[in-house]
Amino acid sequence: MKKPPIIWLNTLLFAITFIGAVVLIPWRGFTHGFDGIEWIAFVVFAYASGLSITAGYHRLWSHKAYKAHASVRFLYALGGALALQNSALHWCSDHRIHHKHVDNNDKDPYSAQMGFWYSHIGWMLREYQASRYSDYNNVRDLQNDRIVMWQHKHYLALVILMNIGLPAFIGWLNGDILSMVLMAGLLRLVVVHHCTFFINSLAHIWGKQPYTDKNSARDNAFLALLTYGEGYHNFHHIFENDYRNGIKWWDYDPTKWLIKLMNWFGLASDLRKVPQERIESARLQMQLLQAQNQVAHLPNCDEIIEKFQAEYELMKQHLVDYYQAKKSLLEAKRKQLTDHNLKQQVQLLRNQFLEQQRNWKSLTAAYAQ
Ligand SMILES: [Zn+2]
Ligand SMILES: [Zn+2]
Repeated sequence: MKKPPIIWLNTLLFAITFIGAVVLIPWRGFTHGFDGIEWIAFVVFAYASGLSITAGYHRLWSHKAYKAHASVRFLYALGGALALQNSALHWCSDHRIHHKHVDNNDKDPYSAQMGFWYSHIGWMLREYQASRYSDYNNVRDLQNDRIVMWQHKHYLALVILMNIGLPAFIGWLNGDILSMVLMAGLLRLVVVHHCTFFINSLAHIWGKQPYTDKNSARDNAFLALLTYGEGYHNFHHIFENDYRNGIKWWDYDPTKWLIKLMNWFGLASDLRKVPQERIESARLQMQLLQAQNQVAHLPNCDEIIEKFQAEYELMKQHLVDYYQAKKSLLEAKRKQLTDHNLKQQVQLLRNQFLEQQRNWKSLTAAYAQ
């Protein structure tokens, strides 16, 4: 099949910025050096642009995982222009299609089934989406957001202002315009581009699938470090409206921390969280599936699978009982009744569930090669 025509604007943009960074940064570094302010600006600009994509474009505008104050949305619009990944309106339209048709090569704009290069950057280099490029039907809600539409209308001007104007101004204040434009403008742009592109490429290839195997998305703690917390992509694809991607408190998810912090200051509200019971239940179901696959080649697999099924049902029942009791306890607390029996019961059911999980682990471990 003949490939669609090349989009020269995108191709030249990615090529020139990449080659420019590879050549000019070492050249400036060796001949002139970079000072501490320039390095700090690199980091601040990297977080400002990256988090505008992950907390703004992604979790706020694409998935409506929370609500944000207009001042925050305005900063996201500026940071999104700084990140140079198209307008929020366009980005979200693509992203919603990605979720709806994930891994479908005909529909998912950056389908991981097309390989690393395509899902990372290749999808933007040719007219693959020409037929629906300006179809914004799936982002009608965002068309009511004046900040989104303002950014969409003035996107090019904002890109130039944020990527060249702002670094040049800060460089002028710092006494070296060129070094600042190279560091906070060019190098930062290229690094943030590829780190965020990893969410579409590597986060669909490399990592574990603890919650679902219905799509290619993976959980990968290392990738979370490079992607502002978006490395927990398997969780994200099954529970896309949760404002978190890394759900454990120690999971590196600065996007989640930023949203929570803004919530404390009244700048973000209505943070959406999937009930823990549903998360656990998805996880258990995956464990059953993985255990079944593990023994499928054994001659007596039917018998073992039956055993697995029985243990799984028991574990599931303990889970339901535990969360039921927990709910009753919360209810009682809300009515300001302190019920010690109920508290003890919750503790007991929790222990039972954990115990059953340990049983499950040792049972399945016995069959793992
Ligand atoms: Zn994805
Ligand atoms: Zn998403």
